[in-house]
Amino acid sequence: MAISEVHCDRSCFRAAEHATRLALLTLLLVAACGDDTAPTQDDAPLLIDGGTVVVMDESGLILEGAAVVVEGDRISSIIAAGGPRPANARVIDATGHLVIPGLVNTHGHAAMSLLRGLADDLPLMTWLNDYIFPAEAALVAPDFVYWGTLLSSVEMLKSGTTTFADMYYFRDDMARATIDAGIRAVTGPHVIGFPTPDFATPEASLADAAEFMERYQDHPTVVPAVAAHALYTTPLEAVEAAFRLAERYDAPFQIHAVEDPSEDVTAREQTGMGVVEALESIGALRPGTVLAHSIYLSDEDIQRIAAGGAGIAHNPQSNMKLGVARAAPVAAALAAGIPVGLGTDGPASNNDLDMFDEMDAAAKVQKFILGDPAALPAETVFRLATMGGARVLNLHDEIGSLEPGKRADIVLVDVRRPGLTPLYSVYSHLVYAARGSDVATVIVNGRVVVQDGEILTVDEEEVMERARGFGERVREVMEEVAAGREGG
Ligand SMILES: [Zn+2]
Repeated sequence: MAISEVHCDRSCFRAAEHATRLALLTLLLVAACGDDTAPTQDDAPLLIDGGTVVVMDESGLILEGAAVVVEGDRISSIIAAGGPRPANARVIDATGHLVIPGLVNTHGHAAMSLLRGLADDLPLMTWLNDYIFPAEAALVAPDFVYWGTLLSSVEMLKSGTTTFADMYYFRDDMARATIDAGIRAVTGPHVIGFPTPDFATPEASLADAAEFMERYQDHPTVVPAVAAHALYTTPLEAVEAAFRLAERYDAPFQIHAVEDPSEDVTAREQTGMGVVEALESIGALRPGTVLAHSIYLSDEDIQRIAAGGAGIAHNPQSNMKLGVARAAPVAAALAAGIPVGLGTDGPASNNDLDMFDEMDAAAKVQKFILGDPAALPAETVFRLATMGGARVLNLHDEIGSLEPGKRADIVLVDVRRPGLTPLYSVYSHLVYAARGSDVATVIVNGRVVVQDGEILTVDEEEVMERARGFGERVREVMEEVAAGREGG
């Protein structure tokens, strides 16, 4: 690789005045061309050419008519408009598209797509205890998790999400589904303080968890992580054991934290501490810990999280649907330096996995709740959905922006659509106007997995047919659960 002459007129850098000289030099690295050893078609670089490249580096650089060069699983360079392109490249014409970093969904339960719409418009604890937990006890099995996760992975990829963090059961089947779909997943062992379809106790769940962590240590797309459901469902000792496992592998650790005000009450009864304080007491507020929801945070909690380095997965649509008459204190968390990402939560809580929809909601709920239209502007929200999420998952050196050296997780959004024409502000359109259905092409780890809106990795019709089959079984089980509820 060499720095070649780069032709760049004034129009090619909309944000050049914000870019440091160093950032520009890094971005304008051009792969050496005219090499004697021409690559074969299969390992030829991928050239995503002619789009508006939204880099999402520190300076917020946007490059018109630029090209992103992918070699293997990584971005090797970004070439400005008019710069020399590598020979023999496989070209994706990005004319009329925004070329953005793949979106990062920091919290969810993918297999619950098979329970979507089963019970809605209920308080959290009623929804969980009367519907979801009994349904899961009766239904959740390896094939349920595999097909449910595959279904969600297809939905996520087609709407521009390239990485998602997940907490659910049957970790091997979950991981296998994400590999088959070709999506990046942060997932693994999960503990909860009651018998689950896969393990009778948290101890049993953790007994062979290290094997999973070992197996996926160097996997290209599965990032092994450990999850504890929440302090209101899981004893602090089991949460700590799960966290220690994550710590041993320097892996992300996921936990629901203060989604509901009752969680602090329960934690105080059981541990003498609030949720965040209890997590601090076991050292769990370190970078890579993902606190899902974190709505009911006190000022002290925010200080504790900031001091420890943990991140927050903000799920505005799930929170609104539960009738939480307040919003996670995102602006205060960001001001304190806490990494914040966006999440959809499970597809039964939202009820979709479209991160464009989530960005729109994240921006609007803060403005609404704070009575301030300037709260959480569009560029900030887009950053939460990309680099912010990458930081929450402690993957910011690998994903979250289109910078040379990072994994090639890239999304093309077609802006030649009625709802996106004309275009004045890239971030405004991405956050307020674009939808997941505007995504045309998706690349994960250097591999094209969605092309012209079609998933290439799996048979979408077959996945939906299997999902419909599970739907029949869900209906039967829920009739039994309802009869039991009325009888008991
Ligand atoms: Zn959740």
